[in-house]
Amino acid sequence: MRVFPDPILRQRARKVTQFDAKLAQLAADMAETMDAHHGVGLAANQVGVLQRMCVVKMEDWEEALVLVNPEIMRREGLREVEEGCLSLPGYRGMVNRAERIRVRYQDLTGKQQRLKAECMLAQAVEHETDHLNGVLYLDHLIAHDQFFRIHVNEEGDVEYLPTGEPDAAELEAAAQRMNGRNIAPRSDLPQFDPSNGRPAARQTDDAGVAD
Ligand code: ZN
Repeated sequence: MRVFPDPILRQRARKVTQFDAKLAQLAADMAETMDAHHGVGLAANQVGVLQRMCVVKMEDWEEALVLVNPEIMRREGLREVEEGCLSLPGYRGMVNRAERIRVRYQDLTGKQQRLKAECMLAQAVEHETDHLNGVLYLDHLIAHDQFFRIHVNEEGDVEYLPTGEPDAAELEAAAQRMNGRNIAPRSDLPQFDPSNGRPAARQTDDAGVAD
């Protein structure tokens, strides 16, 4: 798994033109890697391959969906969601994502397919398509302070700690600490003011410093 700040995560993947057994094998390997990390999506950049292919798998699916050369044709609505990334283990952030999307992609035989997606699936496809363009969810943070480091305490509770930019050593340590644990989103995130997209007034320990 390639982890931030690996430069391949910032590169644009190339269009897939060969629909052969090698491509199918890569898709199968990616699906396996995604499952092993309890992810809901994985893009080829994340396993060090600059090809426009990603896999997504919702919790109740038996098999991963493989999207080759995916293109988001239409986005509708906007919602604020919590997001994480296997290439940024131990972190979570609040981002804006579409409510519904329409996607055009090719399957492993090269056939053109279309997909309408909403909620978590739409979020996953947006996230993975971003990866293929060298974009990370960090680029979509609602606000600079809406990025959190996750800490699992001795009781097994998940705590969210404010953080600045992630650094490589910290990420590596977090990856080891988490060791594939699937961290559920927390339910008590601050509310956001829809008029300006900023967090509503929230409690802070920094002696009255406003954001
Ligand atoms: Zn990701």
